[in-house]
Amino acid sequence: MTDLTDATERREHILRAAVRQGLLDPGRSLLAGFVDLDGVARTVGALRAAFPGSLSVLHAFAAKANSLVPVLAELREHGMGCEVATGGELARALAAGFPPERIVFDSPAKTRAELEWALELGVAINADNFQELDRIDSILAGRDPASRIGVRVNPQVGGGTIAAMSTATRTSKFGIPLSDPDSRREVLRAFRDRPWLTWVHTHAGSQGCPLDLMARGVAEAVAFADEVNRVLGRRQVTGIDIGGGLPVNFADDEVTPGFGTYVDLLRAHAPDLFSGRYGIVTEFGRAVLAKNGFTAAYVEYTKTAGGRPIALTHAGVQVATRTVFAPEAWPLRITAHAPDGGAKHGSPVRQDIAGPACFAGDLLARDRALPLLEPGDLVVLPDTGAYYFSTPFHYNSLPEPAVYGVRVDGDGRVDFTLVRPAQDPYELTGPDGRTVLAPRPGGLVRH
Ligand SMILES: *Cc1c(COP(=O)(O)O)cnc(C)c1O
Repeated sequence: MTDLTDATERREHILRAAVRQGLLDPGRSLLAGFVDLDGVARTVGALRAAFPGSLSVLHAFAAKANSLVPVLAELREHGMGCEVATGGELARALAAGFPPERIVFDSPAKTRAELEWALELGVAINADNFQELDRIDSILAGRDPASRIGVRVNPQVGGGTIAAMSTATRTSKFGIPLSDPDSRREVLRAFRDRPWLTWVHTHAGSQGCPLDLMARGVAEAVAFADEVNRVLGRRQVTGIDIGGGLPVNFADDEVTPGFGTYVDLLRAHAPDLFSGRYGIVTEFGRAVLAKNGFTAAYVEYTKTAGGRPIALTHAGVQVATRTVFAPEAWPLRITAHAPDGGAKHGSPVRQDIAGPACFAGDLLARDRALPLLEPGDLVVLPDTGAYYFSTPFHYNSLPEPAVYGVRVDGDGRVDFTLVRPAQDPYELTGPDGRTVLAPRPGGLVRH
């Protein structure tokens, strides 16, 4: 009997079903992504349970972590909101059915047209800088906005182990720095001059940032909100958007740290956040989706070079871009499977797991001890539900793989729904934006 609460066995069970149902096929479908929708429901439940029910909290999923519209719609059905950072993400959130007031628009480079659109819809906005505030003034032209509007502050508490993920450094490009000379006074003045400015936003960083650092960043934002209200002598700031950034454990199946651990730290560092004086928005992305998705790909060939076994697979830089370009920062687990999806149990052999792209660095893992892979086997990349298959890299004209939503019922039956069709690499688009030619293996040409 398969224990489908065990994450490893659950992935294997789903993989076997995917092969049986033809979603993975060595001839036609070499690579696919899977989102465990039962797992997503559980994770959202854990997130909601971590915050006291007495507070007004909107959990806005960071769309960039997985921007597939059916996945966003699923999160909406679980009561989440959506954080977007471009016009394209805003379009996806609207297509997924989020009501405008449950969408939060963060971006350091919002255009005038994007701001006009968001203000017209009533989408919440976090302004990144003084020039953006001036632009909002000019669009509002004295009217009261329908949108909740806040300012993103940079608490300048420092960075984590991955520089590219650290947004609260002294010189970060995000938000208005709170400790630069005169800066704090200027933001205070911005609040004084704009009674509709009612939220304070911060997002101290993502993967690689210590929880303690993130919690200190939030504490700075809360302290600043208290200061605005004290100095202005009115309760102008009514909400704090604490951002996302809860890191994910990529080493094994344990879900750690949990949302509760972070909330405990927030209570310790920023007790006023829980005073009931402020509404709260969160913007978690990776922690909601990463462990609820995996990628699977066939091994096409194997070889040995310089004494090292190498498996050439169909998953590489096109789906694991960060892992390939920054392997130290973004290591992924890999599991080895037989052609039917069953786990391989041979004794571990150190081998390179390579992708299909034409550059030497296209490796998912170097010198990784796994049962020796053979042509026709499958490799699985767990923990790829966020920032992997929904953020493709189009090197070598490699297509985006199909992605399936997965549900497993009480009898172990696996139900797949397509959440994104595979891109057709043979469909070429002409300069007029229309399909002009589709030469493909077998010599077929379609118009
Ligand atoms: C990327 C981002 C998030 C989500 O970060 P995760 O690490 O995926 O939780 C939230 N807020 C903002 C402003 C972001 O840029």
